[in-house]
Amino acid sequence: MRSFTGKVAFITGAASGIGRAAALAFAQEGGRVAITDRTEAPLEQLRGEIEAGGGEEVAIRCDVSVPEDVENAVAATVEQFGRLDCAFNNAGVENTAAPVHQIALDAWDRIIAINLRGTFLCMKHEIAQMLRQGGGVVVNTASGAGIRGVAGGASYAASKHALIGLTKSAALDYAKSNIRVNAVLPGNIATPMMDRFTGGDIQKAIDLEPVGRLGKPEEIAEAVLWMCSDLGAFVTGASISVDGGWSL
Ligand code: NAD
Repeated sequence: MRSFTGKVAFITGAASGIGRAAALAFAQEGGRVAITDRTEAPLEQLRGEIEAGGGEEVAIRCDVSVPEDVENAVAATVEQFGRLDCAFNNAGVENTAAPVHQIALDAWDRIIAINLRGTFLCMKHEIAQMLRQGGGVVVNTASGAGIRGVAGGASYAASKHALIGLTKSAALDYAKSNIRVNAVLPGNIATPMMDRFTGGDIQKAIDLEPVGRLGKPEEIAEAVLWMCSDLGAFVTGASISVDGGWSL
């Protein structure tokens, strides 16, 4: 039920943190993986790791805020592997902390273009392929900030709240087409984004976690793989928190 042998996974933001952990997990469980990110160099390192573990992958440069990049990346994946079973739309950026009246328009636009519009663009092309082949699973990376407000983080929280609405609506659109669409809501996870967000003062983030530690990227990947597998066959439109209790 949990096997990904013969399945094809498409992952955005795969060069770092949560996306990287998910790419390695899919590959370790037999999946063929399209690893994509906005720059190519870090993908090469991941590529080497997947191949060293006997996995199969294709590395594709894809900036999710660029419509042509997304269309080409999905097409290249299907050209390489013949199908697209699991899509993990994970690429995202954090905001620079500012209260609403001080948010610069270009900073707002950048967050929305990557976190929200980028996910929509990916879903548009991934789901078109899933409809052609008769099914598939999409998982979008939202955040605990998709169900709670964040002081100084309005643009990020707005983008992640909207992602949950996008996820729920798409789940309804394709419920009868054998396509499930879910969201994972990470808490404070030990990734380069967290280092940037806390300015290196990780203890600040640990103090916010009821369980008293940061999550590991692999713990998010585990939930994503479960949702993508047949074990999650009755789960669609769900927002699954993997956050050590942060959202409580
Ligand atoms: P990360 O910075 O380690 O990795 C993010 C990856 O996304 C990077 O490889 C980056 O190059 C890529 N990326 C950024 N903009 C892109 C673009 N325009 N096109 C393609 N790729 C792009 O961060 P992470 O912590 O692994 O975050 C992954 C996702 O998890 C993000 O959506 C983030 O909002 C979400 N998230 C993270 C945390 C956390 O605590 N780390 C918590 C909640 C949600």
